[in-house]
Amino acid sequence: MNDKVNDKVSDDRVIYLDHAATTPVRPEVLEAMLPFFTEKFGNPATLYAAGSAAKDAMETAREQVAGLIGAKPQEIYFTSGGTESDNWAIRGAVQALRKKGRHIVSSQIEHHAVLETCHYLVEDEACEVTAVGVDADGLVSPDEVAAAIRDDTVIVTIMHANNEVGVIEPVEEVGRIAGECGVQFHTDAVQTVGKMPVDVDAIGCNMLSISGHKIYGPKGVGALYVRTGTRLARFMHGGEQERRKRSGTSNVPGIVGLGVAAELARTELETERTRLTTLRDRLIDGIFKAIPDCTLSGPRHKRLPHNAHFCFKGIEGEGIILRLDHHGIYAATGSACTSSTLEPSHVLLAMGRPHEIAHGSLRMTLGQSTTDADIDKVLDVLPKVIEQLRAMSPLYTPGDCDCGEEGCRKQRPETSS
Ligand code: PLP
Repeated sequence: MNDKVNDKVSDDRVIYLDHAATTPVRPEVLEAMLPFFTEKFGNPATLYAAGSAAKDAMETAREQVAGLIGAKPQEIYFTSGGTESDNWAIRGAVQALRKKGRHIVSSQIEHHAVLETCHYLVEDEACEVTAVGVDADGLVSPDEVAAAIRDDTVIVTIMHANNEVGVIEPVEEVGRIAGECGVQFHTDAVQTVGKMPVDVDAIGCNMLSISGHKIYGPKGVGALYVRTGTRLARFMHGGEQERRKRSGTSNVPGIVGLGVAAELARTELETERTRLTTLRDRLIDGIFKAIPDCTLSGPRHKRLPHNAHFCFKGIEGEGIILRLDHHGIYAATGSACTSSTLEPSHVLLAMGRPHEIAHGSLRMTLGQSTTDADIDKVLDVLPKVIEQLRAMSPLYTPGDCDCGEEGCRKQRPETSS
């Protein structure tokens, strides 16, 4: 990233804490991609040497992506990103399993790529969706998923980790239940792949969505893992690409970049996960220590290593973002897709947070460029920002926290998980 961002360390360094929204392309990734725009521009569908060079590079990328999630290369299909992968998995399963039924099991905290696909299928394709809720920690109950599955259920789709609050869902149990019921299971792993170990066999999923730009790869490229034997209709109609399942001339530079990003993520996974968890915990502890009336959204120990999501009583998340921006700190209120709207997050509402608390959310997601000095700066600036905003807010009265626990002054106690 790091160079650009790090160049500014000593003076007005920008502190980028929005890695769940997107990540910069790593120099190694860019370097690997560049020749495929110019001298290696061949179409992989052609038979001459330039075409086979592009095809070979794509197959290497397929192996690299498969290697990151414990899959076989032939089970990886390249797409234009997480949104397409989610759309394809759900719509493709519904179409392929028409004779079985039209019922989908999902959750209330899915990314809009899943929520809106389900909405479309209900409105236009006469499907029925059971969206299971979550508890106050943002966790789906596998028992509720089991209870929601019916004879006509064609797919269960539950995300691996939530993009806003960073809570990691019990997908292994969901996968086991879906398998026992003979129902296909898809998981949106856009936020977990490359951040924590992801193994398609341990999860027991039929399909899993991946996005390149969340793992220091390029935007506009991703993949759908499809377990051999999964019933899935083709998504794009046209040429024979991706074994006739996803037509369209392949985005070779993007795919090569995704492959290298996946390979780097695999080799650095444990070191980076440990480093980010330590930084994240220091950030969380520091915020609790310095700022009253705030709650961590979700449990500390079932969350993504790089995610710290808080709600601050009595103020608006947008105000916090703008003031942090003024100090060169980039953060978000929640999902990248809703950050321009003033709607409270559907995830926080599903977790039972009252509207006024859900409005005061701040998501900080750390990444490769994040240093100890960044955390120090945030811990210096953020308490002042919150104090200033609260001083101006007619909504803020110091006192009990609105986390729901009587007498809680500033934090929800650590949960056991
Ligand atoms: N799913 C989740 C959980 C995400 O966080 C995102 C992006 O924010 C997507 C899907 C969409 O991925 P893409 O931006 O590659 O379309």
